Amino acid sequence: MWEAVVLLFDTTNPVLYAIPFFFLLIGVELYVSYRDRMDIYETKDTMASLTMGLGSAFIDVFTKSVAFFIMLWLYQFRIFEDLLAFHWWAWVLLFFADDFSFYWHHRSSHSVRLLWAAHVNHHSSQRYHLATALRQSWTELFYKYFFYMWLALLGFHPIMIITQIAISLIYQFWIHTQTIGKLPFPIEFVFNTPSHHRVHHASNVEYLDRNHAGILIIWDRIFGTFKEENPQIPVVYGIVQNINTNNPLKIATHEFIGIWQDVRRAPTLSDKLRYIFNPPGWSHDGSKLTTKEMQEETADSY
Ligand SMILES: [Zn+2]
Ligand SMILES: [Zn+2]
Repeated sequence: MWEAVVLLFDTTNPVLYAIPFFFLLIGVELYVSYRDRMDIYETKDTMASLTMGLGSAFIDVFTKSVAFFIMLWLYQFRIFEDLLAFHWWAWVLLFFADDFSFYWHHRSSHSVRLLWAAHVNHHSSQRYHLATALRQSWTELFYKYFFYMWLALLGFHPIMIITQIAISLIYQFWIHTQTIGKLPFPIEFVFNTPSHHRVHHASNVEYLDRNHAGILIIWDRIFGTFKEENPQIPVVYGIVQNINTNNPLKIATHEFIGIWQDVRRAPTLSDKLRYIFNPPGWSHDGSKLTTKEMQEETADSY
């Protein structure tokens, strides 16, 4: 059994092999931003992102192991026996099923405050470059795999699922850049691109909670969360209430503390629960606003 763990985390984890390319591309982006005087990198912010990425990788050895064994357990009750055979079309089906799962995992992370408390750290930088991609959460790993469990039950082998999750993560690295503008229409129409993901990292009200895609932007187009980057509205990176810190512990925990403070001051039990499970920004006294409320307010002011 333990051989399986070593095999899974040491040699079959594609992210491991991608790390040198991550740093190579960060080097290229640094050169381009220096050459074009873009001034997008800042040392402390970058160090914070790299620390979050490193911490996340370590925690994931544990969380991925647990998820893997839950998936293995579910796999014995699989609906489709034939998917076991690793036919190439199983990978094609998995590609779509995984990306669909990622979309809902990511969208939920933006619409349930407890999950947002874990995910927000990926959005906490006010800078946007390739190193921001590595600003990965330490706590999201404890729930994200539950969105993929149904794939094992369907009949995809857990090793395939874990591998596809890693491939998706690698794909999402290159889209964290300001050095690539809009790509040709067919690509922008189908795939998640730097342009689409810049919108996702925006704190501008009109861009909030849009483009939750992993690899394919089609899910946002289908489920109504797509927003095109508008050159007239330059993206302001970060979150609505920026935390202005490079302390990894604060980056990882600040929203959990925020929830705790709100739960304590909430007058009723149902309000306390709403502070945990309602969308971020919900408040019992209107002192803060959700994305939907802010967007309705902005629409009214026109
Ligand atoms: Zn997000
Ligand atoms: Zn991102």
